[in-house]
Amino acid sequence: MSKFPFKIIKFIYFLLGIFIFLFMVGGMLVYLPLIYISFIPLLIAIIYMIIKCKCPHCGKFENLDRFIYARKHVFHCRNCGRIIEIEE
Ligand SMILES: [Zn+2]
Repeated sequence: MSKFPFKIIKFIYFLLGIFIFLFMVGGMLVYLPLIYISFIPLLIAIIYMIIKCKCPHCGKFENLDRFIYARKHVFHCRNCGRIIEIEE
């Protein structure tokens, strides 16, 4: 049975963390280029999310928060109805 690897979620969190950090530092220093640069990891995170956040059974796209929910709860795919398990 295929599982959804948790490292994908961690990687997206990591990219979002870089985005928030650069965005806040850029905002504090009122340095616009840094704010623009901060959108690069955000963009990568969104693209990565669209490519990777899929049901391991049917391949239908699911939101990241649903995978986070699936980590602690029993979560059924809305498309195929099978349980999505998260691999730590
Ligand atoms: Zn599915």
